[in-house]
Amino acid sequence: MNSTANERTVDEHDVDPVAAALSLLLDAHRDDTSGALADYIPELATVDPDGFGIALTSVHGRTAHAGDARTPFTIQSVSKPFVYALAACELGIDEVARHVGFEPSGEPFNAISLDAATGRPANPLINAGAIVTSALVGGGDAEERFDRVRAFLSACAGRDLDVDEAVYASEDATGDRNRALAHLARSAGVLRQPVDDATEVYFRQCSLVVTTEDLSVMAATLANGGVNPVTEATVMSERVATVTLAIMTTCGMYDHSGAWMARVGLPAKSGVGGGIVAVNPSQFGIGVYSPRLDEYGNSIRGSDVLQSLSERFELHVFDHPDRPRSPIVRADDHTGEHGDELTLVVRGELDLISAEEVVAFLREWAATRTAGTIHVDASGVSRVREVARRLLTATIERLRATGFAVTIDGTV
Ligand code: GLU
Repeated sequence: MNSTANERTVDEHDVDPVAAALSLLLDAHRDDTSGALADYIPELATVDPDGFGIALTSVHGRTAHAGDARTPFTIQSVSKPFVYALAACELGIDEVARHVGFEPSGEPFNAISLDAATGRPANPLINAGAIVTSALVGGGDAEERFDRVRAFLSACAGRDLDVDEAVYASEDATGDRNRALAHLARSAGVLRQPVDDATEVYFRQCSLVVTTEDLSVMAATLANGGVNPVTEATVMSERVATVTLAIMTTCGMYDHSGAWMARVGLPAKSGVGGGIVAVNPSQFGIGVYSPRLDEYGNSIRGSDVLQSLSERFELHVFDHPDRPRSPIVRADDHTGEHGDELTLVVRGELDLISAEEVVAFLREWAATRTAGTIHVDASGVSRVREVARRLLTATIERLRATGFAVTIDGTV
């Protein structure tokens, strides 16, 4: 090496390797100008078609970005999973499910997709389902209900989001198909508000202005079990975040959702404004933006960048980890003055499989002895799932009943 530390530029010291990798991904797809802007909402056709940005926020709350990550655009259908989460927080998952289903429709976003028997839209991520879902939020007039929507999406993004009034006016002026969907849902008894109120809130929610950075924080909030990792605010329950991700997994990319999960393997939601959110549960959220769309209404470069990212960084949610993680960090086995003694140090989160590992270890150790002392050091355990608690308690009781002395540090 010829260069010394003193000769390096400030930039070299400052380079964020994640941002650098994101930037290379954008470069690989930058020249693809295929696809077209959405123009059925005329105002959407006025944006710069070349805008291209990406941001990734980890569950630790750090964001890396590249390209036009701060370019504003309207959120459009990317709002739908978040409004679903809001309705599920307010009414409960089961009550929302009485109005809108969980099944992929396999049809375009604006399809007339209502169940023949129940009148329910197939899922909350197609337009019919999204209109029904946002009409479940709040109890007051359209203004009160939209305020709730805006406040919730802002909490997910970690900053106050505003409406693009020109896009809203444009959606309202050309929204006859959405009104038709709302009328059908209303006549089937699943739309809780008058049609004009319901579509007003829905058009406003689609016209909220975001950046890819906002989308990455919103996605990271879902990845992080409903806690915004930047502001640390609890925005939704863990259960609602899980169910929202499940719906994104099966229905997020319109009638392209199956191929998307096979190839990219990240729960996602796209919007005709050119934005996409993608989530790797427990790890990170991503926002991408590029407004030229394919025939399904998904951003072309946005989808391709996510596919490259998933392949190059090995991010498919169903990828297999190197080896199962064990909660046992140390096992000391010795003979003391009171006979055989075992000290077992366990750490991390105890769920079904990690508790089963601990239980199997204890049972094996006890199987070759008639008595002894077991000390379980669980002081480094971060969380104990109910199923793990039951397995461990039953095993410890059984060991005590058969002549072993068991002490526990911390709670299991
Ligand atoms: N506001 C748009 C509509 O309802 C959203 C569609 C989308 O992003 O897929 O037509």
